[in-house]
Amino acid sequence: MHEWALVEGVIATAARFAEENGITEVTEVVVVVGELQQVEHEVLEFAFENLKTPLFKNARFVLESQPARFKCRNCGNEWGFTSEGMTEDVSEAIHFVPEMAHVYIKCSECGSPDFEVAEGRGVWLATIKGVKGDE
Ligand SMILES: [Zn+2]
Repeated sequence: MHEWALVEGVIATAARFAEENGITEVTEVVVVVGELQQVEHEVLEFAFENLKTPLFKNARFVLESQPARFKCRNCGNEWGFTSEGMTEDVSEAIHFVPEMAHVYIKCSECGSPDFEVAEGRGVWLATIKGVKGDE
């Protein structure tokens, strides 16, 4: 499903990078997952174990979380996500549906509800480590 497609993309990108750089054995793949991205880390790990090609046989699959950041369109202020002062339900809703953030979060400087999610969404390949064939 969603997670499997993401992992497929990560593996394809990592494999291409390895090929371009003469890496014959990948030892570590670091994937960054935005805090607001709706994916299960366990499912990503499971998908990686099942989709990996021989190139990744001994690779460590590392998941890192990127905290969410918001940027105000009115005053340019940037701030991080905090669930302080929110009920658990609201915090859950925002993590589940980032669009909900606009209902509950306002700029910490000017109070404007007009902001964008600057960071904290998406899943991408951050680092890949490996062994080169002729070394
Ligand atoms: Zn503002």
